[in-house]
Amino acid sequence: TLKGTGSGTLPPMLQQYVAMRDEVQEEFPGALLLFQVGDFYETFGEDAERAARLLGLALTHKSSKDFSTPMAGVPLRTLDAQIEKLLSQGVRVAVADQVEEPGSGLVAREVTQLLTPGTLTDSRWLSADENYLAAVATGEGYALALLDVSTGEFRCAAFHTRTALYDELSRWRTREVLLAPELSENGALLADFQSRFAVMLSPANFGEAAAEAELRAVLGELPGTLDSPALRRACGAVLGYARLTQQGRLEMVRRLTRFQPGAHMALPDSTLRALEVFTPHSPQGLSLMDVLCETRTAGGRRRLRAWLRAPLLDALSIAARQDGVETLFARADLRAGVRALLYRAHDLERLAARVSTRRATPREVAALARTLELLPEAAELLIPFDGLLGGIRARLEALPDVVQAIRGALVDEPPIRAGEGGLIREGYSAELDALRAEALAHRAYLADLEGTERERTGISGLKVGFNGVFGYYLEVSRAQLDKVPPDYHQVATLKDRARFTRPDLREREREIARLDAAASALELQVFTELRSTLAYSADALAEAAGALAELDVLAALAEVAAGRGWVRPQPSEDASLELTQARHPVVEYALSQAGQAGAFVPNDAALGKGRHTLLLTGPNMAGKSTYLRTVALAALLHQIGAFVPAEAATLPVYDAIHTRIGASDDLAGGRSTFMVEMSELAAILHGATAQSLVILDEVGRGTSTLDGLAIAQAALEHLHRCGAHTLFATHYFELTRLEADLPGLVNLHVAAEEAGGSLTFFHQVIPGAARQSYGVEVARLAGLPAQVTGRSAELLAALSVQGDDRAIRQELAALDLSRLTPLEALAVLHRWKSGA
Ligand code: ADP
Repeated sequence: TLKGTGSGTLPPMLQQYVAMRDEVQEEFPGALLLFQVGDFYETFGEDAERAARLLGLALTHKSSKDFSTPMAGVPLRTLDAQIEKLLSQGVRVAVADQVEEPGSGLVAREVTQLLTPGTLTDSRWLSADENYLAAVATGEGYALALLDVSTGEFRCAAFHTRTALYDELSRWRTREVLLAPELSENGALLADFQSRFAVMLSPANFGEAAAEAELRAVLGELPGTLDSPALRRACGAVLGYARLTQQGRLEMVRRLTRFQPGAHMALPDSTLRALEVFTPHSPQGLSLMDVLCETRTAGGRRRLRAWLRAPLLDALSIAARQDGVETLFARADLRAGVRALLYRAHDLERLAARVSTRRATPREVAALARTLELLPEAAELLIPFDGLLGGIRARLEALPDVVQAIRGALVDEPPIRAGEGGLIREGYSAELDALRAEALAHRAYLADLEGTERERTGISGLKVGFNGVFGYYLEVSRAQLDKVPPDYHQVATLKDRARFTRPDLREREREIARLDAAASALELQVFTELRSTLAYSADALAEAAGALAELDVLAALAEVAAGRGWVRPQPSEDASLELTQARHPVVEYALSQAGQAGAFVPNDAALGKGRHTLLLTGPNMAGKSTYLRTVALAALLHQIGAFVPAEAATLPVYDAIHTRIGASDDLAGGRSTFMVEMSELAAILHGATAQSLVILDEVGRGTSTLDGLAIAQAALEHLHRCGAHTLFATHYFELTRLEADLPGLVNLHVAAEEAGGSLTFFHQVIPGAARQSYGVEVARLAGLPAQVTGRSAELLAALSVQGDDRAIRQELAALDLSRLTPLEALAVLHRWKSGA
């Protein structure tokens, strides 16, 4: 049925529309069908109202004798832009094209594209970043499958807890998630999921039998690594869904990688956010990714993100990457050469995927050849090296036969579309050359016609023209009409001249059209064959693409290190950390961009060797958070194989970086700030081990002072016991006393100087506890009215006295009067009186 008014039966075209719309809706509920009608893509009925709303279109009506329905459409030339608008609003789109020339009856139409945010492959809508479709199922624990249709990357993993699943999922750029019914039908679970991930949820088939059939069809077997029903269902569901959107073509998916979430450093979502690894806190700010991203290719950029998502745990693999970076770091000429080459490369991974599904356009195939031609050059640059660079060289297998096949067949600058001719090189196909030569001969005959006819007939003023009615015609002026030969047929008489045709000219024209059509068809056939043979090289292409991406990341990390004075971290023998003159990579970069290069104050840091808890005090704005993050970022950079911003660095391999920084609001989740803080703290206290790095900033801020202090101290004691390397920044000065009780806890503070009522920050971290909090001075700096800051200072003095009173009462209660000698009692009194 179609929303509308009137009782009559629907006209045939609308019947066709309704049938197609219902079919699409069955698989993709809520999808919008764009239905080609000549130069427009139309929607009707309720969908027209929806499209008009989503795209800001004018609503009109499609009316026949006794039926009228709302209609809204977009012109052909804006189709791509409108589809993008719909996708960005989370709407799935189906496009039905006219698949035959309009004649007298109903035009045949077919759904040619199904577009969903997580399954795009076309560069028109796809950013260069990775784009995952995910599926989640449960059974014993949770199973996650991830598929990037644009590159064919297909992975899965199993998790014991929902938190672990969430942490993993938040690492990936997922745009669309398929939730198994046991999850999506549980209201509380669904709400929890939606509060964390702003992604589109789509329904899919999670049936076990269907999943197994899907896996067999795509991978040729049921992989043994899929050892639980939940894993098989999740993997089958993404494949099934992707297959629908790709019109059955899933050749780009060739293998499944089962990954172990524990095989990499644990980076909880809270850490990624706190360290601004991928997303800066403020839109104007910079992320770590932004300042590292000296990659030259889209594949390299995706690979760098993958490395940041999954830092290594194995010292040898870390060293292998560092060796690669160091070589490119030390050899500026090599680095420049590699980067110049990469600059000319197209997105090989995506091109390989397009080729494997036989979807690539002639332009994409030409781009593939251009990129492949760079590989031998790149491999040659790497000849002297072994290790990772040597491995990359081996994988940059030249694939010379692929290049030759493409170059031999395709012209250098082919058109975007196949089917319009002009893409196959001369000399490639004798049959094609013959067709072209014949057409050319006819064209040459027609081009010379004026001269030859003037000569033959002696009509000096004879002209050849062309129009749509009689095709080629011959024009003779009135004065020379007597010379017209008998084979001319007069077709038009004008005032002072007449026009003629000759039957053989018409004949030639038809012949040219026939030859052109035959040539285009042959070109298309040759191209299609070429594309099919390329599909056989898909594995080798994917290998080369991976190697190129890796080379790009190593070169980018070397470029960053060389340009900004970073050093290669040394592995620690005794699990200790030592940073000399370390800087925060993002803050330093932002300062230099703002014209303040060198303004960042470097600091040292040391953990391990009998000190594993650093308690950092100092006024607000002094640089405590920055110091904490500097240490955490150095650890993260070390484990992706990068250099670090410092003069010297020795680093252990951490199993996790846990952070709890600042009072972040979880508005979407509707939980109070304090609740968020405590649940993050709980996760850290449960998860931290002696091999973890823990960064806590201002824990306990969200509640009353005494509660906060108690919680902060208890948390600190717990971490101290578990032996994690902990950096703890706090405004609770009371905690600095713990240094006496907890061996391995060391007080540090950030230097600041108060002079003449104003506060100067040196951003310098030095041993010992801070003397005071300077809160009132910071308030003054921030521009609080003088009356208010003055009154605060008074109150502070009074409160301090009360604080002293309390301290005295406590000490008094603790004194054992039965053992106190009079002299000792006097000494205590003396101390209290002098205010010490
Ligand atoms: P806190 O955590 O003590 O309140 P932050 O670490 O947030 O302080 O730093 C406050 C400001 O000082 C930030 O704007 C930061 O850019 C700047 N800053 C911090 N550390 C340094 C440093 N070592 N060198 C230069 N500027 C710094």
